[in-house]
Amino acid sequence: MVSRVIPVDPFDLVIFGGTGDLARRKILPGLFRRFCAGQMPDAARIIGAARSDMDTDAYRQMVSDAIDEFGGDLAKECDARDAFLKLIGYIAIDARGETGWADLQEAMKGKGRVEAYYFSVSPALFGDLAERLQQWGMADEDARIVVEKPFGRDLETARDLNATLAAYFDEHQIYRIDHYLGKETVQNLMAVRFGNMLFEPLWNSQYVDHIQITVAETVGVGGRGEYYDKSGAMRDMVQNHLMQLLCLIAMEPPARFDPDAVRDEKLKVIRALDPVESYEIVRGQYQAVPMEESEHPGYRTAVGDAKSRTESFLALKTHISNWRWAGTPFYLRTGKRMSARSSEITVVFKDTPHSIFAEDAGRHRNVLSIRLQPNEGITLGVTIKEPGPGGMRLIDVPLDMTFADALGEDGADHVDAYERLIMDVIRGNQTLFMRGDEVEAAWAWTDPIIEGWELRHDVPKPYDSGSDGPTDAFELMRRDGRDWREVSP
Ligand code: NAP
Repeated sequence: MVSRVIPVDPFDLVIFGGTGDLARRKILPGLFRRFCAGQMPDAARIIGAARSDMDTDAYRQMVSDAIDEFGGDLAKECDARDAFLKLIGYIAIDARGETGWADLQEAMKGKGRVEAYYFSVSPALFGDLAERLQQWGMADEDARIVVEKPFGRDLETARDLNATLAAYFDEHQIYRIDHYLGKETVQNLMAVRFGNMLFEPLWNSQYVDHIQITVAETVGVGGRGEYYDKSGAMRDMVQNHLMQLLCLIAMEPPARFDPDAVRDEKLKVIRALDPVESYEIVRGQYQAVPMEESEHPGYRTAVGDAKSRTESFLALKTHISNWRWAGTPFYLRTGKRMSARSSEITVVFKDTPHSIFAEDAGRHRNVLSIRLQPNEGITLGVTIKEPGPGGMRLIDVPLDMTFADALGEDGADHVDAYERLIMDVIRGNQTLFMRGDEVEAAWAWTDPIIEGWELRHDVPKPYDSGSDGPTDAFELMRRDGRDWREVSP
């Protein structure tokens, strides 16, 4: 099955931070793949902008190298590289000074088409960029800005950032990226929930025992130690990615699939979240396993602080206090240096009210698992009779609801989250982007938890690299008579 590609209109995209890690790893190779797929018109223009002094040819070479390194198989197979590179330009610019702004203004003059400005720079520069775009007359009605995480480090800083951007741009021009929302399966989750009669009547505390969300990484902090140690799993993963997934799984059906209808419903979920008590949360910090220490140092060695109290793992239980979900716990878990790289949402349904089968026939709960990475897909565990003679024995078989062909097993039709989101920016579709009030509400929920740790000088529990977190995280589930799903690659 070949996916249908709907080309976007010609556009100008300026990537501030166009020489940075994110631009090279995700944004530029993603744009190339969209070009190869026929979604980007020849008349589109992409302008890299950063302080480094280089000419267009040197920048095109950098882009080509990035495609080689990060573009995957499709990028290697696509023979449209020269045509793509012709769309690329470069302007040396300083977000905090005057260098380059006149050149950018000249380049963006009077085209009358979509202008997108991607702020792929440190958040400390967001305000400078927004201000200068306005000063130089580029913050007009056609302009959109794309901002990266982290969006603040608490409610106060997020409010300040929102206020700064709002001084120059309307909310409908601001695209706050959470790349988890660009994943195929996340949208499929909405299709499954709201496109079928089957699930929605059961999607509540009467039928759902509990919901788990796990985002497990095998990598440690790597070269990001300094940044990560000021942040930790709560700020880096839970406040944004896990919270967004929680919203999509728990929200009421929006009246329409349009940006504000969807985001209104997500906001209601965040506002209905119960505060988390200290005994409902487990913080962890990975430690090196003897013999592997030189290759995989422990967290404190990696961040260069022998007394660091930052968590690299978090497991928590929360409730959503509304009619649909009162009584159904939501368990969230994320961590670095875990046993496998895996992101999965699991909806565990309750037992049937009564079993008509003999006790030794076995009994299974329906489990819907929505897997975001790797191997995106949705499966539903269904109980059937074990085939063959020998009486009634029940087994649990997975009903695969992933349209495997559409995702392309070889990845040929696979659209990376960044690719999808950038095309949504060009189309002007904000459905999969966070609104300012959502981000603030999420910080309002996480702030008291973080403040509690700081007040108590809370020290995270150590866990071995390559394990699935401290034993207390398992205890968090077991005392409720439940278990985490296995973290499987
Ligand atoms: P990076 O590798 O440090 O790149 C920063 C970019 O900003 C460089 O191109 C740099 O180029 C440019 N820059 C710095 N100061 C500038 C100034 N005064 N004026 C104009 N350009 C300036 O950072 P990154 O990893 O790409 O991250 C960019 C943003 O994305 C950050 O907000 C980060 O939190 C976010 N993010 C990154 C990732 C990731 O995987 N990398 C993932 C999620 C979010 P010059 O030095 O040449 O100016």
